[in-house]
Amino acid sequence: MYQVVGSVYETNVEEAQELIWIIIRAIQILAAILVAFFLIYLIILRRNFHKPLVLNKLFCLTVVVTCIVSILGMNLLGIRFSKVYPFSAVRYQIKYFKEIYRFRKTYEGLNYEFSGRIDSPSNLRETYILIIGEAARKASMSIYGYPQNTTPILQNLVKTRCKNVIPYTNAISASAFTRVSVPIMLSVTDAESLRQLAYSPSIIRIFNAVGYKTFLISNQPRRGFHQDVISTMMKDVAYSVYLEDIGYLDRTYDAAVIPFLRQCLKDTCNKKLIVVHLMGSHYNYKERYPPDFSFFGEEGLVTTYNNSIRYTDYVFGGIAKEVLKSDEAIALLYASDHGENLNDNNDGNTGHGLREFTRYELEIPFIFVLNAAFIEVKASKVERLIKRTNHAVSHDHVSHSLLGLAGIYDNQVYQESKDLSSLRFLEQERYVIDRDMNIFLVNLYQRRILKALTQNSR
Ligand SMILES: [Zn+2]
Repeated sequence: MYQVVGSVYETNVEEAQELIWIIIRAIQILAAILVAFFLIYLIILRRNFHKPLVLNKLFCLTVVVTCIVSILGMNLLGIRFSKVYPFSAVRYQIKYFKEIYRFRKTYEGLNYEFSGRIDSPSNLRETYILIIGEAARKASMSIYGYPQNTTPILQNLVKTRCKNVIPYTNAISASAFTRVSVPIMLSVTDAESLRQLAYSPSIIRIFNAVGYKTFLISNQPRRGFHQDVISTMMKDVAYSVYLEDIGYLDRTYDAAVIPFLRQCLKDTCNKKLIVVHLMGSHYNYKERYPPDFSFFGEEGLVTTYNNSIRYTDYVFGGIAKEVLKSDEAIALLYASDHGENLNDNNDGNTGHGLREFTRYELEIPFIFVLNAAFIEVKASKVERLIKRTNHAVSHDHVSHSLLGLAGIYDNQVYQESKDLSSLRFLEQERYVIDRDMNIFLVNLYQRRILKALTQNSR
């Protein structure tokens, strides 16, 4: 419920639309009860027109007694008022605004100064690109074994450019919500230490501090700008482009980011960080690709979702082409913010983050693209990166791996054990954050899910 309220105020309004039906349903029920109550009241008044005073008193007494009995009953049962709808919705809204206010105040006031060493020649032209995908699940990508041909371009790239295009096979997201996952991807803090988010710099801030020129190209809505966690962190980029701000229609497709990316790559600055935020496979899937990309068909949840994955494959291919042909050293990491449920167990579970975690919403694509110029200057790091493709990784590894590849070693915040290119990378337990902001060990969560599934099948 807290995540539902959070999403309503968050940058990604479409995500909120997808979730808000729960609130609407609850309001409808509440309104129906109130209307019924009112009608009964009118009927009693009408029938007893000559004795309204006594019956009015009796009616009011009944309402008061009912309220008192309900409150006492809830207290006896140990149910707190603030946890019952609609009071819980108010409590969650207050909690959300408090969280955002505190986060902004703390994060914006954070006095970060780089202190450490930089292991990269100052005259080397190098660019790091982080592509944040949206609701792309590993289970629906043929590059990871899905039977339908959803990622032909990626597969061809892996086949023909295996040293340049490196898919990781065991990656999970930090949560099933954009508003939690994306900050973890950007921050040096990890899912286990979520409460440190406001006190930890993002990679944008760190790259800025060491003289990089930072860019953002976003095809996600900017509503709620300056209000939520993602936009507070993104605000640190030196140059940002929100496609919706510059006259693009709401239904801009992700390929529109490519010309902007090309422009950023042409920038003459030696050191660049580019963050690209895609709309990917966000519901409604049919709106994520042009009609001529309806490869698997026109209708149906899985069909339209698969079309959106195939379109992301096309966008990814276009971006990879720019990276691979460039003469300057470029390292790109593409990771989705979370996966998606497509009624996989015939239990009506669609979307993400609405029930107990499933593997479909946690398992994500996690793919590096490194061009020839990059491999030439950072060969040993690339070698280590390639060796670890089957290791258990998560969003926790995004920031530290990009810092490690760039050779930006801050004494306070960089963690070698989470850098996939470092000598001292260590495979660790992974954590995920649930819809109520509780932090769980992934294997414990899996055990819980297993238990729930067993009970359901009886
Ligand atoms: Zn998302």
